[in-house]
Amino acid sequence: MTTRRAEAIVVGGGLVGAAIALGLRDQGIDTLLLDEGDIAFRASRGNFGLVWVQSKGLGAPWYQRWTRNSAGAWPALAADLAARTGIDTALQQPGGISLCLSEAEFEDRSRRMAQMRDEAGNFGFEYRMIRADELRDMLPGLGPTVAGGSFTPYDGHAGPLPLLRALHRAFTDAGGAYIPNAKVAGATAAPHDFRVETAAGAFAAPRIVLAAGLGNADLAPIFGLQAPVRPQKGQVLVTERAQTILPLPMTSIRQTAEGSIMMGESQEEVGFDLTQATPVMAQIAERAVRAFPWIAELNIVRAWSALRVMAPDGLPIYDQSERCPGAFTANCHSGVTLAGAHARVLAPMIAAGSLDPSLQPFSAKRFDVQNAA
Ligand SMILES: Cc1cc2nc3c(=O)[nH]c(=O)nc-3n(C[C@H](O)[C@H](O)[C@H](O)COP(=O)(O)OP(=O)(O)OC[C@H]3O[C@@H](n4cnc5c(N)ncnc54)[C@H](O)[C@@H]3O)c2cc1C
Repeated sequence: MTTRRAEAIVVGGGLVGAAIALGLRDQGIDTLLLDEGDIAFRASRGNFGLVWVQSKGLGAPWYQRWTRNSAGAWPALAADLAARTGIDTALQQPGGISLCLSEAEFEDRSRRMAQMRDEAGNFGFEYRMIRADELRDMLPGLGPTVAGGSFTPYDGHAGPLPLLRALHRAFTDAGGAYIPNAKVAGATAAPHDFRVETAAGAFAAPRIVLAAGLGNADLAPIFGLQAPVRPQKGQVLVTERAQTILPLPMTSIRQTAEGSIMMGESQEEVGFDLTQATPVMAQIAERAVRAFPWIAELNIVRAWSALRVMAPDGLPIYDQSERCPGAFTANCHSGVTLAGAHARVLAPMIAAGSLDPSLQPFSAKRFDVQNAA
């Protein structure tokens, strides 16, 4: 079998792999993006579309900084993608609200936000806890039992499918090669020398980036890396288009650019199971209607479940292999939010051959027993 060569291989064409592949291509690197077929579990096609900052990194301020830098990189990424592909990723960053439906939720949220600000140090963390009376002026039709919410100016949302399409189109327009139906089934790894076997042929490169979502758990050890990610199911409900306009996205309710209301999302530890469970859907709808009673009048037109790519502590994992330098791994459960950082910060590091020390806390070494002791 002939082997096709390139300067870099990215395994996985979801949001993480596509953002990194585009970033590498933009560094002038001849890049192949290998992707499994349509039956694969793909978080990138089932997510909620938030570009979300406010709840990221409690107890891990480096994650808050990484997330905020990514949200900051988003406007330029969205503008660049629109100019290059004509695809509007529907980015809006008006700030966002995490709703508290009860007094207990409000108090818990207040504590968390105060801790985030303390931990942010000189980087800062702007937020406001807002009581229901004031929130009612910001969010039309807010329910009478809502206690309030937290606001940060950093949050926003976007269309995850246009984002995925735009990343792919920009990558291929820039000369990158996207190879579908190319599940990596076998590989050999040596320092700066990688070869992978797929149904679409064999490919080799001195650099490889494992961005295969849940597939990374099995692939990483071949390259001297660890990616202990597990599936976490989330269910999402979508209504018909609403007349009411919600000017701000919330953690579990947002209005799409087309006017539908998206509601979600659950956090279920059920393995590789995509079954949609009616009790969970009912719970999502019930909370949404407590938040905005008018949502009860809308028909649900779509519902789905998808699997998050979750590390044991919920934070991203980024690493370069010590055994096989040139092999990198990237895993996260916020691939929309982190698209800016992946395309514009992480990819240039990979292109340069080493991850910045600021990414050290994201190494999977944090899960090693002696490190944890
Ligand atoms: C319900 C839900 C809601 C979410 N909401 C948000 C949100 O609001 N904001 C946000 O930022 N994030 C959100 N996320 C998370 C976000 O969707 C994920 O972080 C992101 O999609 C992960 O992208 P990925 O590319 O790592 O994984 P995936 O999208 O799963 O892509 C992995 C790709 O790798 C391919 N692959 C797997 N194994 C192999 C192999 N061996 N060889 C070749 N290819 C392979 C697969 O075919 C797939 O295309 C949500 C996720 C879920 C499930």
